[in-house]
Amino acid sequence: METAMTREMYKEMGIDSKVFDFGQKIAEELAPRFEEINQVAEYNQLKVVHAMQKCRASEACLYASSGYGYNDIGRDTLEEIYAETFHAESALVRPQIACGTHALAVALAGNLRPGDELLSPVGKPYDTLEEVIGIRPSKGSLAEYGVTYRQVDLLEDGSFDYENIRKAINEKTRLVTIQRSKGYQTRPTLSVARIGELITFVKEIKPDVICMVDNCYGEFVETIEPTDVGADLIVGSLIKNPGGGLAPIGGYIAGKTEYVENAAFRLTSPGLGKEVGATLGVNQPFYQGFFLAPTVTASALKGAIFAANIYERLGFSVVPDSKESRHDIIQAVTLESAERVIAFCKGIQAAAPIDSYVDPEPWAMPGYDSDVIMAAGAFVQGSSIELSADGPIKPPYAVYFQGGLTWEHAKLGIMMSLQKLYEKGLVELP
Ligand SMILES: *Cc1c(COP(=O)(O)O)cnc(C)c1O
Repeated sequence: METAMTREMYKEMGIDSKVFDFGQKIAEELAPRFEEINQVAEYNQLKVVHAMQKCRASEACLYASSGYGYNDIGRDTLEEIYAETFHAESALVRPQIACGTHALAVALAGNLRPGDELLSPVGKPYDTLEEVIGIRPSKGSLAEYGVTYRQVDLLEDGSFDYENIRKAINEKTRLVTIQRSKGYQTRPTLSVARIGELITFVKEIKPDVICMVDNCYGEFVETIEPTDVGADLIVGSLIKNPGGGLAPIGGYIAGKTEYVENAAFRLTSPGLGKEVGATLGVNQPFYQGFFLAPTVTASALKGAIFAANIYERLGFSVVPDSKESRHDIIQAVTLESAERVIAFCKGIQAAAPIDSYVDPEPWAMPGYDSDVIMAAGAFVQGSSIELSADGPIKPPYAVYFQGGLTWEHAKLGIMMSLQKLYEKGLVELP
């Protein structure tokens, strides 16, 4: 299938024929799997275009507003489009939301009051949430405002601990937070169907509890979203899946009108809510990014599956494995040595369109208990829908890989990671 020209081009970019042949064979074997992903992308593409048409997206929606941003038709229509796509009543989609953590913090702080309790029935939440909640003491945490927190871990086999979840729900429980993606943990990512089962269980015990899903890395991976299975709120970052690689900043919160408004009063100000917040020219990339998001997410998924198949074939442990169904775009590969983690990340960096000449090195990053190496050559700083990888330099020497705005680029990145391992004699190709 590959043309001689493509093979030559890979060679020119530093990919040995042996590496190319090994990778190419695996890529060809994955064709049926990729066809399934294409079908999900096709459905989701229709879903987004349908929403844009139904909400009458117009050229005027792409213009910039300034100052207070009153009557920003682009912003208001985009929020309708998100709500329509995710089958939610309402949405808040804003450049004033700095990142995913901020979106989650706003959703939580907007909907919890002193004396309320927050429950995570799926174990420890994402690292940055520990300071938002006050699990690790922090200025301005929910704990400082008198919101208590409870957590029920998943059982050893990854299933929900229904018995202890039932015990943990009490008269104070106001909001249940469910993280869809495993993030950088080893537990499995939750499918939307499993999230639905958990929400049904929680609502049977306490119907008026707010069920919020941290949807980061999950959007458009399946044909349904948590709002299709009873979630009252979903929250995510625009420099991940729904920004389609084009959004330069931003976050979203979608769900029941009352809860979205509570979040808006927290984001801007009580009384002002969704009425203010100029968009300063980001409407255009927000719209175009959301339009591209289904196919961009599909590309990232193909890259993750390609990586899983390559490294599993070479004898490394990969999560999810080469055959498993996917519910987010993150791929973990346990490389078993610091040298391999470093070589892998250098390969990802070398394949980047931006900063490809930079040589990443492990360093002591704040908030981590070991040195960490990170590879990213992105158009948008820190964007993890773009091809990126990072690995803490400590056992079991796992590297976390995600993103790829196009499948072709994700493929080059994985090939380059393998090339670096191969050059240094850290892997043997069959
Ligand atoms: C990325 C992520 C966050 C936080 O997002 P930032 O944009 O890094 O603040 C929260 N939860 C999950 C599951 C994530 O993947």
